[in-house]
Amino acid sequence: MRDLDLSPARREVTVRYRNGQTAQVSIFHNDQTLLQTAQQARVPLSVRDDRQEAATASFVANGLLVLVLLLGLGVLLRRSAQMANRALGFGRTQARVQETTSATVRFEDVAGIAEAKQELQEVVTFLRAPERYTAVGAKIPKGVLLVGPPGTGKTLLARAIAGEAGVPFFSMAASEFVELFVGVGASRVRDLFRKAKAKAPCIIFIDEIDAVGRQRGAGIGGGNDEREQTLNQLLTEMDGFEDNSGVILLAATNRADVLDSALMRPGRFDRRITVDLPDRRGREEILAVHARSRPLASAVNLADWAARTPGFSGADLANLLNEAAILTARRQQQEVDDAALTDALERITMGLSVAPLQDSAKKRLIAYHEIGHALVTTLLPAADKLDKVTLLPRAGGVGGFARTLPDEEMLDSGLITRAFLKARLVVALAGRAAELVVFGPSEVTQGAAGDLDLVAQISRTMVTRYGFSSLGPLALESESGEVFLGRDWLRGDPQYSEQTGRRIDAQVQDLARRALAEAVALLAPRRVLMDQLVDLLILEETIEGARFRELVTRHEQAGFPEADPPSPHQPPGRLVSA
Ligand code: ADP
Ligand code: MG
Ligand code: ZN
Repeated sequence: MRDLDLSPARREVTVRYRNGQTAQVSIFHNDQTLLQTAQQARVPLSVRDDRQEAATASFVANGLLVLVLLLGLGVLLRRSAQMANRALGFGRTQARVQETTSATVRFEDVAGIAEAKQELQEVVTFLRAPERYTAVGAKIPKGVLLVGPPGTGKTLLARAIAGEAGVPFFSMAASEFVELFVGVGASRVRDLFRKAKAKAPCIIFIDEIDAVGRQRGAGIGGGNDEREQTLNQLLTEMDGFEDNSGVILLAATNRADVLDSALMRPGRFDRRITVDLPDRRGREEILAVHARSRPLASAVNLADWAARTPGFSGADLANLLNEAAILTARRQQQEVDDAALTDALERITMGLSVAPLQDSAKKRLIAYHEIGHALVTTLLPAADKLDKVTLLPRAGGVGGFARTLPDEEMLDSGLITRAFLKARLVVALAGRAAELVVFGPSEVTQGAAGDLDLVAQISRTMVTRYGFSSLGPLALESESGEVFLGRDWLRGDPQYSEQTGRRIDAQVQDLARRALAEAVALLAPRRVLMDQLVDLLILEETIEGARFRELVTRHEQAGFPEADPPSPHQPPGRLVSA
């Protein structure tokens, strides 16, 4: 034995022999015998202090723990600092800045809404070659409002403009402006415009602008302060940037009716572009756009599919093709065929809120109602010009609509004639009149409720404010604050006697009744023409104003009045028999 190496912590002795070998021997706790034996044999004994090692190890471990804790704390601190930062920079807009290179949407990707596209093409020229306009002193519009039902391609159009013009595109949903804290929305608006101005020429796109642009002061209690502040800031910014600064504001909404009138003033959203649901041909084009990226079986006829999807928006159509493609993949087929499309259509229509108008009896009734409006507005010289009549539902509404173009001259002068208002009444009641003429008094529907509201409003104003009745040339009521919910009880006492009140009511009712009679008188003898127009409308879904006028003129010239005018209310009409 050469020496002993005692390691008390491990209760072990390492014995080293002279020949260099070693051995481990376990000992008991507090074993004195080993010590004594070693002393007697004069074998050097060294005691290794393991506790030191252990202490070092635990020190290191503890140190590590502290380090980890400190690091953790640091991360937490940093995170909270970031949060504080974010809270402070809350107003910074999170608008997504889309650079030209990444804008992949082109006009050719937008189909079926040719009119809107054409009008927006000009905006592209504004951005690309502003000199052409500024050279002749023309002011470039600041704001363009896209109005139309959801899914018709408004956002898509805005992207396409940016893509075509090759300018940066700042997009933001208006709901993002409205935040928890008062004032945040306004500062976001400021920020968005500041960023945009730095990058002019560019496009700012505010989606769903009705979220901030609602009529101010609506409702009892002053409305929503934060929203109003945001809207005010938006108006200020729009006024603030100089003409022709190269920033064009695009906004989209499907509720143009609730927008604040201040937004629509000249110099703000002075262009308004309607994006309607696509008609049959439009749907075919949209289907073709979305079929480009999908292998269609050669037997698939897109025109047939367009005919089977009345009332579908562009988004619905894109969805239809996508569902069909998914089904095709699931069935491990190579091409999208009619079977897949049929199943996809079934799925989609199940989840649709407004079922496409396929019920032909209901569709016919709506068609007669709308043709009534359209025909009367075309026949009355004093009425507005027909823009188009369609069976495609309007946003949030049922059935179709007949839309007129406002008389530019009247708009400019702000003067409305008595003849025009009378014609408005007749046109408004023409839908109900058509139902009466074709289906009889017991089959008329509540579909005319909106028209009747309008009639009440117009006729009452004619009597009480414009002096267009035998009650004499004086205003019996003054203009009332329009947006207050409870305006009727806020208006206070009427300034006329009870007797005059009764005469007002009688006059108002008389105006309405006469208007309905006039509409019936115009429609009843034109039953054949109405039938033709309804058939055409059901076939094509939309008739443009010019075409409609042409058809009417041709009919009027070719031997009107009809030889044998069917008497009103008889025969029972198609709805009853369908
Ligand atoms: P909106 O903004 O009017 O609600 P979007 O522009 O967001 O509708 O349209 C949603 C999707 O539907 C688009 O991304 C596109 O795929 C499809 N889509 C809608 N309209 C059209 C159209 N006119 N042409 C082609 N695709 C369309
Ligand atoms: Mg949109
Ligand atoms: Zn109507």
